[in-house]
Amino acid sequence: MNADARREAAGPPSPAPEPFVRTVLGDIAPERLGRVDYHEHLFQTTPLLPGEELDDEDLSRGEAGLMRAAGIDAMVDATPWGLGRDPLAVARISHAAGVHVVATTGFHREAHYAGRSEVLELDEERMAAQCLADLLEGQLAVDALPGAGARERPPLGPAGAPVRAGLLKAGVDYWRISAFERRALAAVAAAHRITGAPVMVHLEHGSCAHEVLDALEADGAAPERVVLAHIDRSPDATLYAELAARGAYLGCDGAARLKEWPESALIDAIDGAREAGHGDRILLGGDVARRSRYLAYGGMPGIPYLTLRFVPRLERRVGEAGIRSFLVDNPRAFLRWPAPAAAG
Ligand SMILES: [Zn+2]
Repeated sequence: MNADARREAAGPPSPAPEPFVRTVLGDIAPERLGRVDYHEHLFQTTPLLPGEELDDEDLSRGEAGLMRAAGIDAMVDATPWGLGRDPLAVARISHAAGVHVVATTGFHREAHYAGRSEVLELDEERMAAQCLADLLEGQLAVDALPGAGARERPPLGPAGAPVRAGLLKAGVDYWRISAFERRALAAVAAAHRITGAPVMVHLEHGSCAHEVLDALEADGAAPERVVLAHIDRSPDATLYAELAARGAYLGCDGAARLKEWPESALIDAIDGAREAGHGDRILLGGDVARRSRYLAYGGMPGIPYLTLRFVPRLERRVGEAGIRSFLVDNPRAFLRWPAPAAAG
């Protein structure tokens, strides 16, 4: 296969010969991201959160605008396949609010697809093909069952190009990795091996962290390219240091969840990991994710809570340089795809 044919097989060429971040409006230099909230949702519907649907473009655009005004320049929309993604609306919001958005592909933990046997029976190959199509060709306007019939052409977003996902995601349950979830991890690893795209894994209450890294590593995805989302539901500096020593990013997105412990526990754990030399592995997000908690939908505390309330408290412990690494340098390194020539 000559170089042109190889490029064609790998999908549309990227305009950038350098490492890049794949956003919903196109590929950009990582340096352009600015301050990144690594985990939010503009759209999400799931049977696990009845009444908490994020499904109104005007209101989600309003929340994105509030986030932007609160000092965030870029976000990951962490909603994976089949849970109410709306890629064209996400791209329009990105454009209107002036926020870079990295969209997600992959599959959440099994419970989100309860009763959808046609989804839970998907094999690894079809799951991987869906991930690659979203990453390389673009997302469909509405998610269709992977591999069911001929795939339509993805529609064009406001930038005149298809809306491509820039990140892979899988999810696991509380101390359980079901057969479906294990296939999703394998599919995500397969798509990662081909593209080099970053990988997020949803952990339930911070459990299964080492086990998830073991599975991904066995399938050829290095921990250095993986963020363990919700690891701070187990606010434990010792655990953080172990996982960071393996190379994984620590997805700290539990601010404002006050039922289990005070935020000072999160600050202690983050600062403990930083003091142990792992400050370059920490990512910050809000994962607010519910309409009852979005300001624009009439709830609270809203996405801006992260930068307006939590970050200033954390900054008093870790300093400006610490916050800069958590919000700017670390997500920039994590979200980067390799230069196209290296993506194979
Ligand atoms: Zn989330």
